[in-house]
Amino acid sequence: MGIGRLSAQVSSIGTQRICVLGATGSVGASTLDVIERHPESYEVFALSGYSRLKELEKLCVRFRPQYVVVPDVEHQKSIQRRLIDAGLKTLVLAGADSLDFVASHQDVDTVVAAIVGSAGLSSTLSAVRAGKKILLANKEALVMSGALFMQLVRESGATIMPIDSEHNAIFQCLPARTHDSLSAIGVRRIILTASGGPFRTTSAQLLSEVTVDQACAHPTWSMGRKISVDSATLMNKGLELIEACWLFNAPPAKVEVVIHPQSVVHSLVDYVDGSVLAHLGNPDMRVPISHALAWPRRMESGVSALDLLKVARLDFEPPDEERFPCLRLARQAATAGGSAPVILNAANEVAVQAFLTGRTAFTQIAAIIDGTLNSLAEVPVVTLEQVLDADATARREASKWVGALS
Ligand code: NDP
Ligand code: MG
Repeated sequence: MGIGRLSAQVSSIGTQRICVLGATGSVGASTLDVIERHPESYEVFALSGYSRLKELEKLCVRFRPQYVVVPDVEHQKSIQRRLIDAGLKTLVLAGADSLDFVASHQDVDTVVAAIVGSAGLSSTLSAVRAGKKILLANKEALVMSGALFMQLVRESGATIMPIDSEHNAIFQCLPARTHDSLSAIGVRRIILTASGGPFRTTSAQLLSEVTVDQACAHPTWSMGRKISVDSATLMNKGLELIEACWLFNAPPAKVEVVIHPQSVVHSLVDYVDGSVLAHLGNPDMRVPISHALAWPRRMESGVSALDLLKVARLDFEPPDEERFPCLRLARQAATAGGSAPVILNAANEVAVQAFLTGRTAFTQIAAIIDGTLNSLAEVPVVTLEQVLDADATARREASKWVGALS
């Protein structure tokens, strides 16, 4: 087992029981839309939400899961009462430990890891330890704990199916035996495409004045607020670069980033013989989610066929690391290794939260991350405890930089 090395096992034994962590979010909604189209193949076993609990209750009525996880006991009691009144047998659980419980439950076949940020780390690792098939959206977990994550995958036999669209595209452009090194399978480089976000053509001067609403209005993808801001700073591509290094066993130097504003080519693999394989499709998360759920088969996703004549042209340009320094910072952290990606991710989460809550300007996000990375020495991170320590230290340091720079 490993990255997508699933025996035909899961998909040949009837209904797959799915645990959707982060069901109330954007990836959660796309996943549930796909599942609902194929009731003969998929059954919702557990759902989780955090703040949008009215929506979560509606999802329980729609999908009748065995478990639903909410953040605290207060909501647990009130929601449980209402679900019983509605005639549902769903058991309501509370807290982060319950996320770990449902992610590793023996009756679960597939876990969709779609909680945003470091909050998704523990439950994703629980699913990995339990050897589940995991549809991985939560890239932050891999960025934070890559070495540990991949070691646990090897030990448990978990199957990781990337659903971040670029990584799913790369997966589809690689041969099935992805456990070989990239050189052994003749790969020269991986090319990650990036839309360039809403500020692709905005001048450096105007960038310091952009608003939260502008940053969250992504031109081609509809996503949660944190990843939308990450896309606007290009940190999303930086996190994806690190994600690609772990998933495909690639050194950072073999992963290139190209801006492609139409978001039709989702990524490419360049082989030594000059062949370049690309994955194309409409920008809709139901494409990678359907692929990962049905793999190695294919099924309808609800996404319309790509109209090449309507797309008409595909543009490519180099990323501008002067206006968008986050990409450079991420590449440096990937190359440095150890705790550097943990620090990068933690400082980014703190800085993006400060921007979303009006405490700092858009252009200070990169400055806060840079300051945090420069203030802390890199240390090796092997165990989960070391990852969490490095994360907590970086959050404290980044909060100081928010104060100093805002
Ligand atoms: P959203 O903000 O739309 O959804 C996030 C989900 O996480 C929600 O269900 C939310 O609950 C839950 N959540 C938030 N905080 C916590 C917490 N502290 N504990 C437990 N659950 C929590 O994000 P997206 O769906 O856009 O993104 C989810 C992940 O997928 C991210 O890691 C992102 O990088 C990745 N991804 C997303 C893509 C996209 O197209 N959206 C594409 C590729 C990757 P609630 O809403 O109830 O508060
Ligand atoms: Mg992506």
